[in-house]
Amino acid sequence: MTNDQWTSVDSYLADLLVSEDSILVAVHDANAAAGLPSIDVSPVQGKFLMLLAQISGARSVLEIGTLGGYSTIWLARGTPVDSRIVTLEAEPKHAEIARSNFGHAGLADRIEIRIGPALETLPQLAQEGAGPFDLVFIDADKRNNPHYLEWAMKLTRPGSIIVCDNIVRDGQVADQGTSDPDVRGVRRFLEMTAEDERLDATAVQTVGSKGWDGFSIARVR
Ligand code: SAM
Repeated sequence: MTNDQWTSVDSYLADLLVSEDSILVAVHDANAAAGLPSIDVSPVQGKFLMLLAQISGARSVLEIGTLGGYSTIWLARGTPVDSRIVTLEAEPKHAEIARSNFGHAGLADRIEIRIGPALETLPQLAQEGAGPFDLVFIDADKRNNPHYLEWAMKLTRPGSIIVCDNIVRDGQVADQGTSDPDVRGVRRFLEMTAEDERLDATAVQTVGSKGWDGFSIARVR
């Protein structure tokens, strides 16, 4: 199967099952106009996150890696109106666009953006007594995934869900000799997930408009 086929199947599924509304289309337009990289989750993945939040009854969500807030909006849509969404973003320009997108989506009062490297904002959150979060979505710099897992464990409770994006990386994840720091970060993250007796986890490969990749999902026991 070729990349073109994955992409056309993704479009077919997205058109049939997801049909982005004008708000989500506007997010893509605003992100593109601001020159943000097109590395947000795909529409089918975004809706998957929304459903996961709904199915798990999440009322508090922590996202690491906001970009323009496309995935954040899907996550927020899967939670009740009185829920709390905190999203962490290192790049002030990305955060500015995301904030504007949240305003247009009518979600500004429910989503808090923390600007700065997540390894600085996560300890601040913990110090403030934030959490426990019901759902954590990890989607930032992959080399730091092992640290993000450690923080996620501190900021969750039994029953919480931890989802991590981009764990296949065009198949590189299976290369145990890799020197790529991001792939090494993903591999260490997966090993830590497997070794941690507090977690029940799996990972799923995906193909689609974002190429060959995948996500892991873990439930805190
Ligand atoms: N979750 C977003 C979505 O699907 O719409 C996409 C996030 S994008 C893949 C990764 C984001 O993480 C980028 O905006 C990048 O600036 C941010 N990022 C990278 N390193 C970071 C760090 N150390 N702390 C916080 N954010 C970081």
